[in-house]
Order: sequence, then C-alpha cells, then structure tokens
Amino acid sequence: LEKVPSDIAISEAQTPKPVAQLAHELGVHPDELESYGKYKAKVELSILDRLAHRKDGKYIIIAGITPTPLGEGKSTTTIGLAQALGAHLGRPAFACVRQPSQGPTFGIKGGAAGGGYSQVIPMDEVWAQFNLHLTGDIHAVTAANNLLAAALDARMFHEATQSDKALYSRLVPAKKGKREFAPLMFKRLKKLGIDKTNPDDLTPEEINRFARLDVDPETITWNRVIDVNDRHLRKITIGQNPTEQGHTRVTGFDIAVASECMAVLALTTDLADMRERLGAMVVATSKRGEPITADDLGVGGALAVLMKDAIKPNLMQTLEGTPVFVHAGPFANIAHGNSSILADRVALKLAGTEEGDSSDRVGYVLTEGGFGADMGMEKFCNIKCRVSGLKPDATVIVATTRALKMHGGGPDVTPGKPLHDTYTKEDLVTLKEGCKNLAKHIENARKFGVKVIVAINQFASDTEAELQLVKEEALAAGADAAVVSNHWAKGGAGARDLAEAVIATCEGSSNFKFLYDLELPIEKKIEIISKEIYGADGIELSELAQKQVETYTRQGYGNLPICMAKTQYSFSHDPKLKGVPTGFTIPIRAVRLSAGAGFLYPIVGDMQTMPGLGTRPGFWEVGLDPETGRVIGLF
Ligand code: ADP
Repeated sequence: LEKVPSDIAISEAQTPKPVAQLAHELGVHPDELESYGKYKAKVELSILDRLAHRKDGKYIIIAGITPTPLGEGKSTTTIGLAQALGAHLGRPAFACVRQPSQGPTFGIKGGAAGGGYSQVIPMDEVWAQFNLHLTGDIHAVTAANNLLAAALDARMFHEATQSDKALYSRLVPAKKGKREFAPLMFKRLKKLGIDKTNPDDLTPEEINRFARLDVDPETITWNRVIDVNDRHLRKITIGQNPTEQGHTRVTGFDIAVASECMAVLALTTDLADMRERLGAMVVATSKRGEPITADDLGVGGALAVLMKDAIKPNLMQTLEGTPVFVHAGPFANIAHGNSSILADRVALKLAGTEEGDSSDRVGYVLTEGGFGADMGMEKFCNIKCRVSGLKPDATVIVATTRALKMHGGGPDVTPGKPLHDTYTKEDLVTLKEGCKNLAKHIENARKFGVKVIVAINQFASDTEAELQLVKEEALAAGADAAVVSNHWAKGGAGARDLAEAVIATCEGSSNFKFLYDLELPIEKKIEIISKEIYGADGIELSELAQKQVETYTRQGYGNLPICMAKTQYSFSHDPKLKGVPTGFTIPIRAVRLSAGAGFLYPIVGDMQTMPGLGTRPGFWEVGLDPETGRVIGLF
C-alpha cells in the first residue's frame, strides 16, 4: 500500500463545491436551503412535504465491533462507502452522521469526520465547525437544557419562600385590574382536573395545588449540562450565595450530548412533535407523587423556540463531493447514539424514487450508530426505528484486524509506545480468537432480522491471510457478505467492492423486527437486552433502581423502550472484559426517565454521565496557525 498523506493535506488538496451547487445537484430547491457560510447549510423541513410522494431510498445502519483504543473506523467507512456509491457507482448516496461533542474532541478521541481519503470536508469547516460549533445545534441544546434547570431551581426557591397567595398573585398577576392565566397554565389546570378559566374563581385549596409544584428534592433527575469533559462538575452544590437564603442543593452536570434535549432533537419527527416532547420532559416527582414536567414549569414553549433552528439537518460534503447530513450528536454509551430521524428522512426522500423510475435510480442512506453494534445498533433498532417507523434494509458491521486481535487477547496499547508486534505482523491465532467478538455482533444483528455485511476496514499492515480469515469467520457466523475495504487509502474507489456488496444485499427483502415488546415490564425489557445482546446471565437492580422502576411504572411510563447506559468497551459492564465475556450479571445502579425523548435509561455499573479529561488531553495539540489563522493540531 502506498503512503497516504495526512488528513489535513488530503483535505486541503481538494476544493469543495459551494453548498448551493451541492444542493442543486441533489434536487434541493434554493428556498429549502439556509446557508451558513459557503460550505454548509441547513435544509428546511418543508422538503419532506414536497417529496412525500417519493418511495424512500435504501436504509443502511453502520455499526461496529466492540471498540478498542486501536479504532475500527466506523465514520471513515461510512464516508468511504458513501463516496463509493455516490461518486463511483453513480447512485444517490447520503451519509448521515452525528455532530461530534467537544468533550471527546478536546479529550481523547479527536474529531469524527472520517480520515485518509474518506473524510467530510473542508477541513477548516470540519475542525472549526463540524467538530465544534457547526451551526450551533449543540449550543441550542445546552441553552434549552439549562433554562429548564434554572426554571426548576428558581421555582423551588420561590415556593419555599412565599405563601400560597403571594406565589399565586405573582404567577397570575393582575394587569389593569384583571388576572389572566398564561396559555400554558391551562395545561396544568387540566392535569390537576381544575375546570376553571377565571383565575379569581380558584378556591384556596386549588390555588395551593396549582401554584405549588411541591417538588420532592430527592427525586430531581434534571442536571445542568455543558459540552466539555468537566469531571469536577459531576457533583456540585448550588444556591450558596446569601441571596438564595440557604436553599442549597447538591446536583451535577452531564455532558450536553447525553442530555434529554439532545435525544429529543435526534428523535423528533417535526416541529410540533418537538414542542410536545420538550414540554413532556420530566424533571422530578412532586411530594404528591405526580411527575413534574417542563410544561408544569411553563418553559416548554421557550425550549422549543431555543431549538427551532437546530431541528433542521445540516448539509455538508465528502472529499469526493457526495452529500453528508450532520445532525444531532447523542453519545452511544450514555445516550441512544444515533443521528437524527429527520436527517435520515430527508436523505431517504432525496435518495428515493419517483413512480416509474428504474430500480438503478434508487439511492442509499448510510446512517451511523455509535460505538459497537451492542450499543448504537441495538438502540437504533429498538428506539429510533420504533419512533420513526423506518426499517433498515441492511446493517454494515465495521471491523479491523487490529481491533479483533485485541479482542482475541492482544495486549493493551500504551499511548506513546510503539504497537506490539501482534498488531503490526501476521498473527492468525489471536485474530481467529478475536473474531468471536465479530461473530457475536453478527448474531445480534440477525436477531433484528436485518441483512449483515461485514466491512473489513483495511490497514496497511494487514496480510492477505488475515483478511481472508476475517472474511471466512464472518460468513461462518452468518453474515450475508464480508468485504475488504480500502477507502482510507483510496477513497471511494477503495470501497467499490463494499458498495457493490451493499447494493446486492439490499436487493432482497428485509424482515426487520424489534427485540422486545414495549408492553413487557421494565425489568423484563432490560433483562432481554442484557441476555440476548450482551450475553449476560441476568440483571441485578439496586434498591434505588427498583424504587425508580416502581415509580415510573406507577406514573404510566412503563411502556417506553430502554436505552442502556453501559460501557462501550465490552459486551459486559466491565470495560476490561474483551472478546465475548460470559458468566456475568448486569448491575443496574439507577433507572432514569426521559419522558420527552421517550425512553427509560438504566445506568449500568459505575457508568458516568459526565466524562473526564486525562492528564494529557487532545487540546494540547490544538491551536491556530499564526500565518494563516487556520486551525491546527486536532489529528
Ligand atoms: P470510529 O468512527 O470507529 O471511531 P474513525 O472512522 O473516526 O473511527 O477512525 C478513527 C481514526 O482511525 C481516524 O483518525 C481515521 O483516520 C483512522 N483510520 C480509520 N481507518 C483507517 C485505516 N484503514 N488505516 C489507517 N487509519 C485509519
């Protein structure tokens, strides 16, 4: 294999086309495009109405084996495959990826825009934009989340320091001698069963119930968020200034991309739906046992306003000029890990066919599910597809020989030290053992009834015998196809075989099905995922988790799907257990509710919802070139 230049050198050697030109080529009308600079634009959701009559393109979920520090190249493969389909085989092809979080970007991982000859470009936009601000969607999510947090604490403070009467007269002030309920207050009155429209008609008992949310502080699940790996914010005390009169409270921060607002953005289906979901988000339980929502706090409408532009998918391009939608960025370990339903829908329509089109007009949408298939793909199938009603035609599972060798018993890598010989020289024994991890992911994907294509992301040091072995093992495990792909070194041309395998596999029909029935009890659903996907013997709920399960079931949230918050580094809860661990029980520390996003998320073991920075974070390398002012150092 020839030497491949650096990502930045490759990117700079290519001139991207103006986004207006890209949009024109795709059939996006000028009035459906909202440009943010020259190379990226938001696409208006009205396009979905215009193209509603089209038959959707083919829908493919890109997943991976269990991640290792050696990397599997899922993003790179998504982009490479899109380039092969779009630029080499002449099919409309869209990559739908998540917007990376600043946390890992400045922490350990770097960006997530692909690499080598399979990247999203232009790099300057990618670094300063794609990986950081893009069109401000993550900032909007953060603002919405924190407005709700502020609303909750302020309301608790006011309730604690005022009489019913004072509270009521401030909530429903008299203007020119007349009191009127704010529109959202009728929702609360309805919830309380108070059928009155004139604020002066409420009895003292009704005033008490209306004005006092009476939040039980022990039950608050709403944290503040920030898009930084800031470990010291995991647990904080708020309200310490004398103005808060001693009303302090222990709370914490989560990373913004794990927030429920981000999950809502990724799972919403239109503006009205987003408004409803944001208003339905539950922050706590009242002392009377009722769930307290954003709409109870009067803030649901404001949250929707903060996120009204974020809902539109962002259009960018690959190195070979094919389209990429970058939208929403939930983590796949502590959140549901998939890009937005709306981006996928817009792409599926743009890749779709009109009546009378020949079958070779059909296009492909490649959507990426984060981390291993046990995380991103399981949540794609059981959560995202349930909400969208879309069904995948196939899944691509990305593997590398190096990562498989680590699952087969290869030694850990030490940063800054050269890789062990196992990873750079032929080692068929370790590789064969590691293929068991791939086999388990294939077996899991087949439980959803989807076709499986294994993409072996080729590294320069891979030998023919090694690549052949992975192919054989994948086919023996039930994959419909297993193909070596060299898109990192050769761009779309290197992924031609993979693209042809995807086209051939998608010809057949898919028998997609969910893994569990929503009506099952919460514990049973968690157990099915743990046993069927992770290979666990069973689950064990802490006392707290049991209490939460009871509360959520009683409140009517028992029929939601499950979003496991588990380490991505193992099928089990122990990141050290590589390969296919057996004989373990999944410990459920807590169960949280995302009523607006529409799932329950059990927290497995000591999983944190705010990552930390190591001693030597990635930001040491990052800066601006003093000559050109361009971003350097994030690779
Ligand atoms: P993932 O999406 O699985 O986290 P990425 O696609 O972001 O992985 O790839 C991780 C890193 O590995 C990137 O820097 C990418 O350029 C590099 N990489 C991916 N595939 C290859 C390959 N075949 N050869 C060399 N480097 C690769």
